[in-house]
Amino acid sequence: MTFDEAELCETLRRNVSKSGYVKPTPVQKHGIPIISAGRDLMACAQTGSGKTASFLLPILQQLMVDGVAASCFSELQEPEAIIVAPTRELINQIYLEARKFAFGTCVRPVVVYGGVSTGYQIREILKGCNVLCGTPGRLLDMIGRGKVGLSKLRYLVLDEADRMLDMGFEPDMRRLVGSPGMPPKENHQTLMFSATFPEDIQRMAADFLKTDYLFLA
Ligand code: AMP
Repeated sequence: MTFDEAELCETLRRNVSKSGYVKPTPVQKHGIPIISAGRDLMACAQTGSGKTASFLLPILQQLMVDGVAASCFSELQEPEAIIVAPTRELINQIYLEARKFAFGTCVRPVVVYGGVSTGYQIREILKGCNVLCGTPGRLLDMIGRGKVGLSKLRYLVLDEADRMLDMGFEPDMRRLVGSPGMPPKENHQTLMFSATFPEDIQRMAADFLKTDYLFLA
């Protein structure tokens, strides 16, 4: 697959080429068609492999094809995609990449993470939020405060899953996946990325992903 064959819409294609991406990396080449086909995915991919674009591009493409409405102010926002990563640095990188690709579209990404006050982040969410990027605890906090609803969720991305386990986030991840209002896994796509695939990650993939998920290594 080339970026041309990915059949991205005009704005997305322009944003990809503005980023200087000419040729897809292996995880993009193999991951984008799987995600675009609506499948769940467990991918073994390291930082630096280009995994961020491998999930962002097909998600943004689908939201644009489906004409996801421009966000507007609301006391409750219901994002179509939630992306989870273990640290502030990682989730911020994902958010910046999402903003870069979503530039000029009506998709509005927002980022939340712990260690700072919630006021600014809540205001940013309420202004409109289609793609919510966050660390596990702060995402649960926003859901618990009733600022974020899950009824429109179509994509749940768990990035750096092995690091999330190492950092003790398994209970938070399970709480998130089991949140009241979370659509059943049959009704949304779950995408997991991990540098390694030890037994506890395999167990989590079996619990979180649909039974016919694809494994990409
Ligand atoms: P990631 O593994 O997603 O953190 O990406 C690692 C770095 O590679 C980031 O700086 C990306 O901007 C860059 N990158 C991702 N995909 C490509 C590509 N197809 N061509 C060139 N650079 C890329």
